[in-house]
Amino acid sequence: MNCLFCKIVNGEINSDIVYQDDKVLAFRDVNPQAPTHILIIPKTHISTLNDLEESNASLMGLLPITAQKLAKELGFADDGYRVVMNCNNHGGQTVFHIHLHLLGGRQMAWPPG
Ligand code: 5GP
Ligand code: ZN
Repeated sequence: MNCLFCKIVNGEINSDIVYQDDKVLAFRDVNPQAPTHILIIPKTHISTLNDLEESNASLMGLLPITAQKLAKELGFADDGYRVVMNCNNHGGQTVFHIHLHLLGGRQMAWPPG
């Protein structure tokens, strides 16, 4: 499968990895939109939010759990942060391997663009 993030998972493409275990990988976004911008992905390929099934619930629960652990470790959990999951065209998704953005280190605005 020609998936950029699967290639990052299997090491074909280099990335700045901040955390991984057998199920989840977290690495720094190549084009950061905040002082800290990390992408958290399941190691197994799921394309979009639309493709999730009930059986993915525990795996997907690890993404926000990883986000809060990293926010605590990196020191911005108390100040706050944002997690975002874009879906398809209107959501602004550009890489079709599901991922949670973790953005921290600055004041966020609302509504998002
Ligand atoms: P999306 O727009 O799909 O929600 O987010 C995709 C993210 O992947 C973007 O923020 C983009 O900067 C990031 N990205 C795209 N290609 C690469 C890459 O090769 N390496 C890394 N680390 N991030 C990437
Ligand atoms: Zn993939």
